[in-house]
Amino acid sequence: MRDLLRKLRAIVEHERALHGDLLPLPPADEASSSSPTSPADSPSPSRTALDDAAPDTDMPNYDLFGNQVDPAEDPSLPPSERIEALIPDDAPYKDADALEAVEQYLADNILVPIDEDRENPVFGVGDPEADLVIIGEAPGRNEDEEGEPFVGRAGQLLDKILDAINFEREDVYITNILKSRPPRNRNPKSEEVDAHLPVLYKQIALIRPAIILTVGKVAGNTLLDRSSSLSNLRDQEHDFYGIPLMATYHPAALLRNSQWKRPTWEDVKLLRTRYDQLRDET
Ligand code: URA
Repeated sequence: MRDLLRKLRAIVEHERALHGDLLPLPPADEASSSSPTSPADSPSPSRTALDDAAPDTDMPNYDLFGNQVDPAEDPSLPPSERIEALIPDDAPYKDADALEAVEQYLADNILVPIDEDRENPVFGVGDPEADLVIIGEAPGRNEDEEGEPFVGRAGQLLDKILDAINFEREDVYITNILKSRPPRNRNPKSEEVDAHLPVLYKQIALIRPAIILTVGKVAGNTLLDRSSSLSNLRDQEHDFYGIPLMATYHPAALLRNSQWKRPTWEDVKLLRTRYDQLRDET
């Protein structure tokens, strides 16, 4: 209701600007001086319900016309606030201030059926203050057994790739879109992504990386809300609510198709350059 009145007021103000005083909106000073102070006060005859809906000047996220701005889309806010705005208000971990609390929540709760079938939740590993976060698709069998992302063959290749650009695994933070292994490593279902993605948002909001690298089509497309080929995704640097995001091939894909090793090498060299630049800027 308050929102509706706010919008109505914006429309009347706009019309008034066009048509002068023909519209029944009292001047702002008159409206404020006649404001009732208690329910017993009778409303001033010139006061309208629209006045009660005047935008609060101390309320952020309203534009000039009183329309609410989506905080996730407000580039003046820091990335962590924009990303936190994507998390549903009823998510119990929304206000958590440490990764451990979110990890515990994930371990204690079944959000979707694949959570019931897992050996272990696979939350994430690495430096909780890393400037680089690497995001894959979902744990496989080895990851499910160990409760750690990227520990199987693809993970060993990821370690080699990191080593080639002078990162230790401990320097970065590694995680996935899904925190539980889908049966037979099938593609994530949309309800699984919907349930687990806010956990990833919270991880990113807490870690506050300078840059994100997604590996594979699923991770890149999910975070960017696209459905592009990997060659289109890796074509450019993206913006993830204020954080630069780069996409490259999944290490498991490189194990199957060595022709993608060269472009991956080009991508990660560029990633290292951007990482160093971004760190120099801070
Ligand atoms: N593939 C992924 O996307 N993530 C892992 O953790 C392991 C393999």
